[in-house]
Amino acid sequence: MTTQEYISEAEEYLLHTYNRYQIVLEKGEGVYLHDTDGKKYLDFASGIAVFAFGYHNREYNEALKEQIDKIIHTSNLFYNIPAANAAKRLAKIAGMSKVFFTNSGTEAIEGAIKTARKYAYNKDGKNNHEIIAMEHSFHGRSMGALSVTGNAKYQEAFKPLIGGVKFAKYNDLESVKALVTEKTCAIIMEPVQGEGGIFPATEEFIKGIRNICDENDILLIFDEIQCGMGRTGKMFAHEYYGVKPDIMTVAKALGCGFPVGAFLTNDLAAVLVPGDHGTTYGGNPLATAAVNKVLDLFENRDILSQVNEVADYLEQKLDAFVQKYDFVKERRGKGLMQGLELSIPVGEVIVQAMDRGLITISAGINVLRLVPPLIITKENVDEMADKLTAVFEQKSL
Ligand SMILES: *Cc1c(COP(=O)(O)O)cnc(C)c1O
Repeated sequence: MTTQEYISEAEEYLLHTYNRYQIVLEKGEGVYLHDTDGKKYLDFASGIAVFAFGYHNREYNEALKEQIDKIIHTSNLFYNIPAANAAKRLAKIAGMSKVFFTNSGTEAIEGAIKTARKYAYNKDGKNNHEIIAMEHSFHGRSMGALSVTGNAKYQEAFKPLIGGVKFAKYNDLESVKALVTEKTCAIIMEPVQGEGGIFPATEEFIKGIRNICDENDILLIFDEIQCGMGRTGKMFAHEYYGVKPDIMTVAKALGCGFPVGAFLTNDLAAVLVPGDHGTTYGGNPLATAAVNKVLDLFENRDILSQVNEVADYLEQKLDAFVQKYDFVKERRGKGLMQGLELSIPVGEVIVQAMDRGLITISAGINVLRLVPPLIITKENVDEMADKLTAVFEQKSL
């Protein structure tokens, strides 16, 4: 079949919920992807901040194959070895007490919301509790996750959403304070906003939020689905601020391609009991074998120092773009989660970069998002910068 035939078939049968780029990706090797026309791309998207250790990673692939031959699924009515290991390791790395594995980031958010509601219910026996979320946030597309996602465009057709959600301005502590009532059960935020346009929280904001939560017995939920798992140069982005959440959600790079997420709680927020929550697949042996291998890879390769080193270099290269081109307004981000705010259409830049063999994605309003695999080298950064320079030079003509 030709590329065009694959695309036609996909468009005929896949529900058209995405305007996809007109390439069909067939295989990957390290930080490179190959399409069905044999064209090679340097990957600065990682399947949306997922594939941290590169494609065709033999160790990862072997671990999954080995688990497939033992047992793939058990349900949560029984114990399984990989889930117990993965929960212990993840809890220890995160400094949290309990882990609930899910199949996606969205489901981790659902669990976090339910945990917050249950916590408040346990206190006063009422079911009218409110959640404060942030404008320009992204937490997922299910009704609960969508309800705390600060993007009116995503919500409009699907109302009524879950009740009791209020939106504050990110990095504006007063706007949060103004929304706190005795019914507030949780504040949910991304330490670095991803989809919203790569906005890191200020230290003042995140510490102020923690204080508000402590003073009012409100649970703090950090959504680390995109910014967690080493992406920013710390295992979790909140470590930059010295502030801990009561509940944390992770997914994306947690399974590095195998669909798995989790929400974690501290002792205080470990309130869900049998009957409160469940999942058929969540934390099955295959998914948690992937998590275990990902955690091995983090431990064995000192990946965080590597991320920090290459991220410094990447920041220099991106800052040079800001200096050089008027239409590159600003660089924002931490570690290998970077955004360039443009004043020319980001969609065109992405397509032209793709023509030159570089895959990037967008975020928020006209932000070029760079979330490469965590294993990229300075040479890969140079290659990216060369390709992007060629695109920007065209644009500045
Ligand atoms: C991607 C993302 C989600 C949703 O995760 P899915 O796995 O797509 O359900 C939630 N929150 C943040 C911050 C994300 O980046």
